[in-house]
Amino acid sequence: MIPVTTFKDRRVALFGLGGSGLATARALMAGGADIIAWDDNIEAVEKADDADIPTGDLRSLEWGAVDALVLAPGVPLTHPVPHWSVRMAKSAGVEVIGDIELFCRERRLATRRPPMAAITGTNGKSTTTALLAHLMKVGGRDAQIGGNFGPAILGLEPFKQGQVYVIECSSYQIDLAPSLDPSVGVLLNLSPDHLDRHGDMEHYAAVKERLVAQVEVGGTAVVGVDDPWCRAIAERLIAAGGNVVRVSVREALHDGIWLDGETLVVSEEGERIYELPLAGIGSLRGAHNAQNAAAAFASARALGLAPEIIAAGMRSFPGLAHRMEQVRTIRNVLFVNDSKATNADAAERALTSFDDIFWIAGGKPKEGGITPLKPWFPRIRKAYLIGVAAEDFAATLGGEVPHEISGTLEVAVAAAARDAAASGLAHPVVLLSPACASFDQFRNFEVRGDAFRTLVNALR
Ligand code: ADP
Repeated sequence: MIPVTTFKDRRVALFGLGGSGLATARALMAGGADIIAWDDNIEAVEKADDADIPTGDLRSLEWGAVDALVLAPGVPLTHPVPHWSVRMAKSAGVEVIGDIELFCRERRLATRRPPMAAITGTNGKSTTTALLAHLMKVGGRDAQIGGNFGPAILGLEPFKQGQVYVIECSSYQIDLAPSLDPSVGVLLNLSPDHLDRHGDMEHYAAVKERLVAQVEVGGTAVVGVDDPWCRAIAERLIAAGGNVVRVSVREALHDGIWLDGETLVVSEEGERIYELPLAGIGSLRGAHNAQNAAAAFASARALGLAPEIIAAGMRSFPGLAHRMEQVRTIRNVLFVNDSKATNADAAERALTSFDDIFWIAGGKPKEGGITPLKPWFPRIRKAYLIGVAAEDFAATLGGEVPHEISGTLEVAVAAAARDAAASGLAHPVVLLSPACASFDQFRNFEVRGDAFRTLVNALR
């Protein structure tokens, strides 16, 4: 745990007692703050009571005596409407911040400031965060990984020499961290998402921009330039004299890191100074992962790793569970768990990454179903449909793609494994990439992916 000393002997209200809220409460208490915590969910309050965290309804708080409201990132700051605790704090002139802000203030006070990489974007945050932490570990550094992915930031190991903090940041967390000043800021990409919580694209992009615009003096901003919003942000940063590394998987860059076929190329003033082949790295398949890899490469360089070490780290990256996770190969059949693909957009990335696919799809459908995936239907040898969406998806596949209604994941895995093994194809892939939420049959996508892995590991 990282004790937060910046609020020593001061009064702090805390709203939101999930995992990160509890960790934040403990960190504030360890640093000597006088805290009072609350949640709209009474069970969460009871859990905090059991952990000896002082609780009390913030509605009856003497707000004039409070120095800050620390908000959990899941609680609305602005959209669709500010939470009642935010309104009370603001009308009393009390600042509203989150755990990443507390971390940043603590980091600035440290005699030896540990380097911090902060990663955001609409897609690929967790993969890039995990990959960068892995690279740093391969480079012999003590990489502490957390934030939006993994443990809460204040639950990580306290500062000591050799450490580097690799932190995934959601927009909500950036919104609550006005002085966020990482050593390396990474903005991967931007596309409309979560706009319900941000109002509009301009506001969403402006929040994300702060993470790269506020890197500390001597720091580095890494920006993917393959979408118009990020491209404009990179141009603004460069115009302002910032130290920016641009990343593209769509075009050659005069300066930056880009994808040439399946090779990452590092260019400086038009000259190729390093090349890193990604072909054969199973955990980094697909152009989207090349974007993640390029951003992680740039960040690891900025944090002092040599290109050769980074290349070795890329090759040993195990990948993340449920995101095109290679579970097992039986004879020549590869089994891939992409349970995280809960919509067509995410499933598209998996379908574009393999050629001969035995596809397990379905669950609780999203609007539009699998119609956007039609261009990739020729890659699907057969589909095995499960859950509520099965009939609908069968209608979309029609006469174009052979399919069967399997109903359950268990039936689907058995049938797909059998057909793939009998196909005579060189590299058949049994792919769970459901393009659906899991809630009709599973608690969440992790449970669905775990079930797939268990079934596959039981195959003979
Ligand atoms: P996040 O943490 O931002 O949700 P993840 O790394 O968990 O992202 O990846 C989730 C899914 O998003 C992956 O399964 C993949 O389909 C897709 N994805 C990953 N990286 C990218 C990227 N750079 N661009 C677009 N989509 C991506």
